[in-house]
Amino acid sequence: MTSSPAAGQLYIDGVFCPPASGRTATVTDKATGAVIGSYGLGDAADVDRAVAAARAAQPAWAALGAPERAAGLRRFAEYLQAHYEDLVRQSMRETGGVRAKADDEVSTGIKQLQISMVQATENAGDLLPPYKAGKLSMSRAVPLGVIGVITPWNYPVNLALRAVAPALAFGNTVVLKPAELTPVIGGQLLAEAADAAGLPPGVFNVVTGDGPEAGHALAEHTGLDLMDFTGSREVGLAIAASAAATLRPIRLELGGSNAFLVLDDADVDLAASCAMVASLEFQGQTCISASRHIVMRAVADRYLDALTRRAAALRVGDPLSGEVEQGPLISEKQRDRVHHDIVGASVAMGAEIRTGGSYDGLFYRPTVLANVTAKMPAFIEEIFGPVLPVTVVDTEEEAIALANGLPMLMDSVFTADLIRGLGVAERLEAGEVHINDAHARHGADDQMGGFTRRQWIGVQRTPLALPEWTADPAGRA
Ligand code: NAD
Repeated sequence: MTSSPAAGQLYIDGVFCPPASGRTATVTDKATGAVIGSYGLGDAADVDRAVAAARAAQPAWAALGAPERAAGLRRFAEYLQAHYEDLVRQSMRETGGVRAKADDEVSTGIKQLQISMVQATENAGDLLPPYKAGKLSMSRAVPLGVIGVITPWNYPVNLALRAVAPALAFGNTVVLKPAELTPVIGGQLLAEAADAAGLPPGVFNVVTGDGPEAGHALAEHTGLDLMDFTGSREVGLAIAASAAATLRPIRLELGGSNAFLVLDDADVDLAASCAMVASLEFQGQTCISASRHIVMRAVADRYLDALTRRAAALRVGDPLSGEVEQGPLISEKQRDRVHHDIVGASVAMGAEIRTGGSYDGLFYRPTVLANVTAKMPAFIEEIFGPVLPVTVVDTEEEAIALANGLPMLMDSVFTADLIRGLGVAERLEAGEVHINDAHARHGADDQMGGFTRRQWIGVQRTPLALPEWTADPAGRA
């Protein structure tokens, strides 16, 4: 895996090959800046070839049957497991995440493969309650066809495999375009695994390249049966707008500004501890990061003190160099956005830095901001950095209204009263809400849902009594 056959190459139709343009770009270790690899700059010509290969391979792959496809995915997972340590270290270098984050990312990716194999062998369809006596109704899961997958840089293994694994397991074929900041761990090494697993040529293809070129070409490709995109709202909106014009099917997993509510009866220490995970896991660069701490006045001072003490004590440094809780941010662009557009702009509007607000290279100190109002960028934007903005409110109603004012994916509510917490959770518009907890994962994503269509089938079991007018006139007396 260290001298990878995939370095600088795309993977199309079972072959590692250079991009049509012949151009490559470098991949860096985010903590040291060292060049640690290269990736091919794929473009529309490569995407065309990959989609054609996936199309040609799909019928035979679907016809193989679930157990044989599952065997291929098992070998895929076994290869990743056999190279687990290399993958974790590669993820730490390429994403800048600490060991625990990389472990979580790679092991969750492997689990996605394992869960998908089981789901595909067990979920061929359902027997349905018939509306009328004498009928048998069933539905069967039918693969969609060719799936395009575009992924972000923050959890490149897990987020690729959460789409790729169920798509392949249910008989689809895939063209993956990983993020340009993490093309080795998010693309090349997965291609190596698929190749070593002996997946038939064309079943899984990887076109590395930049978003506006390779990404755009894939997202716009009319040869796909579904485009599965995980990334920013900005790019998601552009993909949705262009897909609407041609009715191309798409599935979007985007960002938001998640709320973390601390009510006046909360266990403040528990809330502050959970906030370290909720806002600072992977330097705050996760789609489920708590982006806004909405705190009731009665506990606000104690909560701010508890947050500040914890955040100030965190060790920031190269994840591979020893015991640190925070690594570097992903890029200078992201650091400048966090420092100037979020922290600097909010301070200019009256926010107060309790700790942090400074950086060394890509290493940004965990930052607690007090006096944050709903008009400040620290409140409004998806921060994607290690910043905890605290906004004080007087009532529970105000907290809920503020939280619901922005799009969000996952919220938390802290209260000593579970019934109260459930009531608040019910009124929050996030897709997932945790009470006295943060980032809890309660199970696997719904894997099969998006990658099959349901075909309903009716079977007539008893002789039909059809209306007279349907009979063959020739047969009438
Ligand atoms: P991004 O949108 O900039 O990039 C995501 C992917 O889209 C990359 O592969 C990129 O190359 C590609 N891309 C860029 N421009 C494109 C274009 N014009 N057409 C097609 N593809 C294009 O996002 P990012 O910075 O890599 O990731 C961070 C974002 O992802 C955050 O907003 C975060 O919330 C979101 N995210 C969401 C989830 C989720 O499950 N909801 C998970 C992780 C990240």
